[in-house]
Amino acid sequence: MNTLEAFAMMDYGPAPEDAREAHAWLDAHDRRFDLFIDGQWQPATDDTRFDSHDPASGEPLASIASASAADVDRAVAAARKAFPAWRDTPGHMRARYLYALARQIQKHARRLAVLETLDNGKPIRETRDIDIPLVARHFYHHAGWAQILASEFPDHEPLGVAGQVIPWNFPLLMLAWKIAPAIAAGNTVVLKPAEFTSLTALAFAELCRNVGLPDGVVNIVTGAGETGAALVAHPDVDKIAFTGSTEVGREIRRQTADSAKRLTLELGGKSPFIVFDDADLDSAVEGIVDGIWFNQGEVCCAGSRLLVHEAVSERLLAKLRRRMNTLRIGNPLDKAIDIGAIVAPVQLERIRGLVDQAVAEGATCHQAECPLPETGLFYPPTLLTDVGPASTAAQTEIFGPVLTAMTFRTPDEAVMLANNTAYGLAASVWSENINVALELAPRIQAGVVWINTTNRFDAACGFGGYRESGYGREGGREGLAAYLRPAWEQRLPMLPLDTGDELGAAAPAGDPSAAFGIDRTAKLYIGGKQKRPDGGYSQPIVAADGQHVADVSLGNRKDIRDAVEAARAAAGWARQDGHARAQILYYMAENLAQRRDEFAARDARLSGVTAQQAGAEIDEAISQAFSAAAWADKYDGAVHNPPGRVLTAALHEPMGVIGIVCPADAPLLAFVSLALHAIALGNRVVAIPSARCPLLATDFYQVLETSDLPDGVLNIVTGRPTELAPVLADHMGVDALWYFGPASGIADVKARSTSNLKTVWTHEGRALDWFALGAGHARDILGHASQVKNVWIPYGE
Ligand code: NAD
Repeated sequence: MNTLEAFAMMDYGPAPEDAREAHAWLDAHDRRFDLFIDGQWQPATDDTRFDSHDPASGEPLASIASASAADVDRAVAAARKAFPAWRDTPGHMRARYLYALARQIQKHARRLAVLETLDNGKPIRETRDIDIPLVARHFYHHAGWAQILASEFPDHEPLGVAGQVIPWNFPLLMLAWKIAPAIAAGNTVVLKPAEFTSLTALAFAELCRNVGLPDGVVNIVTGAGETGAALVAHPDVDKIAFTGSTEVGREIRRQTADSAKRLTLELGGKSPFIVFDDADLDSAVEGIVDGIWFNQGEVCCAGSRLLVHEAVSERLLAKLRRRMNTLRIGNPLDKAIDIGAIVAPVQLERIRGLVDQAVAEGATCHQAECPLPETGLFYPPTLLTDVGPASTAAQTEIFGPVLTAMTFRTPDEAVMLANNTAYGLAASVWSENINVALELAPRIQAGVVWINTTNRFDAACGFGGYRESGYGREGGREGLAAYLRPAWEQRLPMLPLDTGDELGAAAPAGDPSAAFGIDRTAKLYIGGKQKRPDGGYSQPIVAADGQHVADVSLGNRKDIRDAVEAARAAAGWARQDGHARAQILYYMAENLAQRRDEFAARDARLSGVTAQQAGAEIDEAISQAFSAAAWADKYDGAVHNPPGRVLTAALHEPMGVIGIVCPADAPLLAFVSLALHAIALGNRVVAIPSARCPLLATDFYQVLETSDLPDGVLNIVTGRPTELAPVLADHMGVDALWYFGPASGIADVKARSTSNLKTVWTHEGRALDWFALGAGHARDILGHASQVKNVWIPYGE
């Protein structure tokens, strides 16, 4: 036998991991777990339980308590009780606890890895080398944030009690992503693990006890969806952080609409994996293996849509099919296994059903020839070809080891296909030409873009979605910020519920000035032009002294739609550089300054404030226009240097189209502060100005018309906020909504935002001081105007 023949005959022998310690740990707990509340193991009220199984063998592993609403209530009460002391614990002391947790995780790394593999079915190679080291890394990194929090986030405070709900695909890692930033920032938490995979969360509870974490800072309530729903609904929870399906994420947004709870959602994906004709195809094949067959494809950011350049498609797919046959699938505790078991029968059925449906729709299905174990929940690596861009296989998240392949011809086509889903979690771009890859990265709508690499994660780099993949980031500075709020927010007084919808009052009957007032009708401003309202209605606006000043158009649903269309068509604004945007904003400030006295006189007459007060408002508005111009080229992202030879560019990208419902007060200042900071970062805006005093915004048309702002970047529709805001909230073409209208409308716009899972920023019923907000807190406005995209760029040969 020559060397080649010997090499061809070589096979892997079994290399089983020793699971005795993990089993001993389960036995030590009599394979029975209660809830972890207030630092103690507490039984569920009516002792309802469910079993956790090993999906590779079908064997039950342990019996687990199912928390009822009453149990969740106890856990929230414990977290609430622990909050003040934990919040006031110095950052350095909190850092010590987080550091101790990181060390505990490292000390018990192998037991945790085995336990995770037993409970979830994922290969030990992955839990040992990826999941658990990243869990430890997360606690180390956030120990650092706790240490430097006070100086890095001055005048910020923790939110309070965080309710956290996580999925089953990376059980302990998702726990770390949730708990580490929350407690580093001084919040206390109630976390609900997924029902299929509770064991490592319970093991973590024990580590919390080992390090002496104060009782109630971390509480773990096990159970199914109803337990999660009880946590989401609990009135004493200040923030909900959810990772899971888009469907449940939507439900949670609806459920929390009538509260001021903060919300971050990490949802599903259908991420593109784009291979250009100049890519290193062998590396790309390994990337695909990692992109879709890592963790059995049960990965929210899995590269489940392969988009390959037509010229290399056949070659790449041939290589891929050969590689698929070499993948080893089987006992996840075997260290030489690539693909383990699917988490639960229901998930296996879902995968089977979706592949059957794809085939029924005309897809060609290729499955690897690797043998499957006879028992347990296994599914072979699968490749679907001959699929259309609108087919189920191309659109629906399968959450299993199934890759859908399509071809493209040009970079533009690749971008179009990449963005052709409702999701926007991640993307992977493969090309040896860095220029091509970097040109594509900003054009793909996704929170993470990996260049010539895939599925890389780090605590220093934010992770999270665009569009229906959710909002908020986990990891990095932005992930921590999601557990903090500016302290000044809580100091603001509450507004009466329905302030702000009353239009300029009708002129008193019989007043001759009403009949013979200046004949002037302010139109709408859409796509750079003054437009008559679709409905043909207008409303008289009277001054504080009761005199009729002008009529203002009453916009309707159709006008909002036209304005959104104009805003979407102005997408080129986002591609202009900050310097170009700054110049236009400075020019707007200059033009406003030239009309300062005219605006001030108008303001004084309409709102009845003194000439001095009106002048101060206009001066501040001019200053805000300068502020927006100043920030246009300064709100930079960051460059992270995570472990490994890779740089991560955290880019601040615009949200897209922002709908802004202005408050009734400070009619010019609030409008200018909000709209101009939004457009400074490349957003386009549809603004509904103050209903009571819209004429200052309509006078602003002349500033816009003389300022070189491209058509469609700023659109203004006057009318009743209660009628127009719901249209903006429903609209699929609006990416973010800033709502400062009547407080009575907040819950409605939040609930409607589920249409496309747009972000919503509101005053939560508090009276904002527009002088203070613009002057001192531009970064807070800009944070709402942007989303972070992390672009991973490996280097070296
Ligand atoms: P799921 O939404 O069914 O469940 C997730 C968690 O929510 C579980 O703990 C579940 O018990 C709980 N839950 C279910 N109904 C609830 C309700 N009404 N209220 C509150 N909680 C409820 O999702 P899954 O099947 O467990 O996980 C798979 C999904 O998670 C996939 O869509 C995947 O893309 C997504 N995911 C996303 C990320 C991310 O970071 N974006 C990470 C992992 C998984």
